[in-house]
Amino acid sequence: MFSTLHTNSAPESVTRLLDMGMDPFNFADALLGILAQRLAKRLCDCKESYFPDQAEIRSFMAEYAQDLQHTALWKIDRGGEEQKLFESWMDLYGHDGRLQFYRHVGCDKCNKTGYKGRVGLHELMIADDELKKLIRERARVAELFVSAVGSGMRTLKMDGMEKVMMGLTDMKQVRSVCIK
Ligand SMILES: [Zn+2]
Repeated sequence: MFSTLHTNSAPESVTRLLDMGMDPFNFADALLGILAQRLAKRLCDCKESYFPDQAEIRSFMAEYAQDLQHTALWKIDRGGEEQKLFESWMDLYGHDGRLQFYRHVGCDKCNKTGYKGRVGLHELMIADDELKKLIRERARVAELFVSAVGSGMRTLKMDGMEKVMMGLTDMKQVRSVCIK
């Protein structure tokens, strides 16, 4: 069965369903995963690329890390984690050893707005053994979140920021759809 409901995040959907009276044991057994989605405005092809300076990269990284800061993952070795994160971004999105961001511009095709169409931001929470155990124990949203991020879940915000580095959208759009 496939179903949709409105919540702020994938982990919150679990507690919402349990609050609605679902049996935690049956639910944990049956659940495969939860996918949260938001639609952000997509940058039109008239966008302009630029190379952010160190300060902008640092604040971008800090914003990305906000979703990780309560997880053990991030606490262990903060400096090392930041370096690793930056290197993985360079591998995926780097242009000649630099990160590239984009500004919206505006042309006739996009009615001078700089945006055309939408792009989906996603947060996929997989119901692995640890998560199923937490669901059976009626764990709080924060615990579900830490477990999911620890197993590699990317939050809506994090996914949106990856899409900023891909040049699909910008931070203004990501922030506006990720407000809780
Ligand atoms: Zn345009």
